[in-house]
Amino acid sequence: MTTTALVTGANKGIGFEIVKQLLARGVDVYLGARDVERGEKAAIDTGARFVQLDVTDPESVRRAAASIERLDVLVNNAGVVGGRGQSPGGADLDAVRTAFGTNVFGVITVTDAFLPLLRESAHPRVVNVSSTVGSLTGMFAHESPIGVAYPPSKAALNAVTLQYAKALKDTAVKVNAVCPGYCDTDLNNHSGYRTPAQGARIAVEMATLGDDGPTGSFYDDEGVVAW
Ligand code: NAP
Repeated sequence: MTTTALVTGANKGIGFEIVKQLLARGVDVYLGARDVERGEKAAIDTGARFVQLDVTDPESVRRAAASIERLDVLVNNAGVVGGRGQSPGGADLDAVRTAFGTNVFGVITVTDAFLPLLRESAHPRVVNVSSTVGSLTGMFAHESPIGVAYPPSKAALNAVTLQYAKALKDTAVKVNAVCPGYCDTDLNNHSGYRTPAQGARIAVEMATLGDDGPTGSFYDDEGVVAW
């Protein structure tokens, strides 16, 4: 049976490329986007099916889940930086709330809504698009951006990934986090040095993992990333 996938926040950037790469592997893909016009255009451009889905709007997520009959792969890709005012000592809590609202609460909302469908799949996979800037190991040790919104939201997303993986470890559902690397997208005003297509690769790998693949792991193109 054909594998069916949903990619959130897929009207542009890395999500758009994840959709294209999954389609190229013969996967039947729902392209999730919060804006109907942008989403429908992206779906036409790629050949995917469009589904309206704002990860911060539980009603939109519920409607999306009700409109999809079966699902094998969920890629939680939608993400935001959250806005300005992320400096410790000068934080704008709205920026923190925005980052957590999409990058953490949104992932929980969407995953919970689609888990009943995923449980019915023979090879269910959940991929959370995280970032190495959320790695607690790397956060203090290496050069990485300072901010109390975006990096901590990705650290929380990593923790959420582990909680789902642990809760589902006796089922077929594999839940993993990935980092696409620093990619040239709107998210960072196109300062990234990798292409969105390069960034998409690891998410696609984890979305199409074999049954012997890991769960509760964090990967980038080079292998395991420290939590
Ligand atoms: P992007 O080009 O800005 O794309 C982000 C996507 O998320 C857009 O389609 C956006 O839709 C969507 N989105 C935002 N809020 C949403 C919501 N509430 N509901 C549904 N969709 C929503 O950014 P990107 O670089 O491709 O980022 C994709 C993922 O990769 C994010 O999780 C990001 O944190 C992660 N990441 C990126 C980099 C990088 O260097 N670019 C590095 C590490 C991790 P609209 O068009 O409607 O705004």
